[in-house]
Amino acid sequence: MNTTHNSTTPESLISFLECSSCGKPYTAFEFHRLSLCCQLPLLARYDLEEPVSKEVLHRRPGTMWRYRELLPVLRKENMVSLGEGFTPILPLPTLSGKFGFKELLLKDEGQNPTGSFKARGLSMAVSKAKEFGAHGCIIPTAGNAGVALAAYCARAGMRAVVVMPRHTPKAFREECLWYGAEVHLVDGLINDCAAKAGALNTDGSLLDVSTLKEPYRLEGKKTMGYEIAEQLDWQLPDVILYPAGGGTGLIGIWKAFHELKTIGWLAPEARLPRMVAVQAENCMPLVETFFGRQQNAQHYVGRPTIANGLAVPRPLGEQLMLKTLSESGGTAISVTEEEMVLGMQELGRSEGLFVAPEGAALWMAARKLLATGSILPQEQVLLLNTGSGQKYMENVEGKYNV
Ligand SMILES: *Cc1c(COP(=O)(O)O)cnc(C)c1O
Ligand SMILES: [Zn+2]
Repeated sequence: MNTTHNSTTPESLISFLECSSCGKPYTAFEFHRLSLCCQLPLLARYDLEEPVSKEVLHRRPGTMWRYRELLPVLRKENMVSLGEGFTPILPLPTLSGKFGFKELLLKDEGQNPTGSFKARGLSMAVSKAKEFGAHGCIIPTAGNAGVALAAYCARAGMRAVVVMPRHTPKAFREECLWYGAEVHLVDGLINDCAAKAGALNTDGSLLDVSTLKEPYRLEGKKTMGYEIAEQLDWQLPDVILYPAGGGTGLIGIWKAFHELKTIGWLAPEARLPRMVAVQAENCMPLVETFFGRQQNAQHYVGRPTIANGLAVPRPLGEQLMLKTLSESGGTAISVTEEEMVLGMQELGRSEGLFVAPEGAALWMAARKLLATGSILPQEQVLLLNTGSGQKYMENVEGKYNV
C-alpha cells in the first residue's frame, strides 16, 4: 500500500501499519491496537528513503527524536519528551581484560529519564496518544514501564493508571505516585496485571499501552538500533545481548537495522549482529520454546525474579522474538538469581556501574557464551543494559558481598 502522506505530516515518513503475521495493511492515521485480522502486533511502515544526510543527522540534538523522519509522530507539538535516548555506549575495559573479551561494550539505558529504556517506548506511545486525542492511559507493568508512563502522562497533562505486581520494589510505586498516577497492586505477575487493567477499563476510556498491543512503544525502542549503528560509526557489533521480557527492544532493534539498510545508512551487504535473548531462570518462556521444550509460551508458568522486567511468562511478541533470534543466528539463554547478584557486584566494582539485575544478567550470559564458544574472544560484544539498579535496592539489599 503506498499511502501518500497526510497533509499534516511535516517530517514523519510513516506510511501505514502492517499486521506482523499476515501483512494486511491498516491506516497509520487512525488509532489501531492489535491487528483485527490476526489479533497480533501491528508494525509501522515508512516510505523509506534517506531522510537527511549523515552529516545533518550528526549535528542534531542527542535524543531519540534526532531520527524523527523515521518515527510515527506527525506533529512536533505532540512530541512528549523528557530528553530520552542517545545514551552512551561505554567500554568495559576491566572486565574485558579479566575475562578475555577483545571488546566488550555496554549501552547504558539506565541514563534515560526515569532510569530505564522504557522511557523511549512510553515517550512515543504517550506522544501518539496525545496526537490521537486520548485523555488517559493504562498499563500493566513489572515496574519500569509504569514509572515511565506516569512521568510522560504527567508531562502531557494526561491521566495515568498503573497496574503492577504487589511484590514490585516500593520505589517503583512511589515514583508513580509522585507523578500523580493512580497505582493498583495485584497478586501475581504482569499477565495478572493485564487482566486487572482490562477490568479497570471496561468502558475503554483509557488507552491501553501494554507491550506490543499498540504499535508505537516498539517505534520508540527501535531507536536503540539506530543509535548503536550511528554511535559505532555504522559498523555494527558481532553480538548484541538483550534482556528479554515482552521483547520490544529485541524486535525493535532488529526492525531498525533493516530500516537502516533500506534507507542506505547501512550498506545493503552489511552483516547484522547475532541477537541473544537473555532471561531469568525463574521465568524463561522464550528459552524453553527456542530449545523446543514447549511448543509456545501460551501455558508457561513463571516465578518472580529480582529482575522484575523479565517476569513476563506469556509474551505476546513471542513469534517475533523467535524470528529475530533465528534470522540473526542468535540464541536464548537463562541466568539464575544468584548469578544476577554476582553480575551486579562485578559491574559495580570493576566498572563503576550500578545496573539493574536485567543488565547484570547480560554480563553473566556473555561470560557463559564465551566459555562455551558461542561468543569468540575476538568478537565485539554489546550488552544492552536496560536500566539503572537504583529502584531495585529492595531486591538486592545487603547482597554486595557475594
Ligand atoms: C521491561 C524491562 C525489560 C524487558 O523489556 P521488554 O521490552 O519487555 O523485553 C528488561 N529490562 C528492564 C530493566 C525492563 O524494565
Ligand atoms: Zn493478520
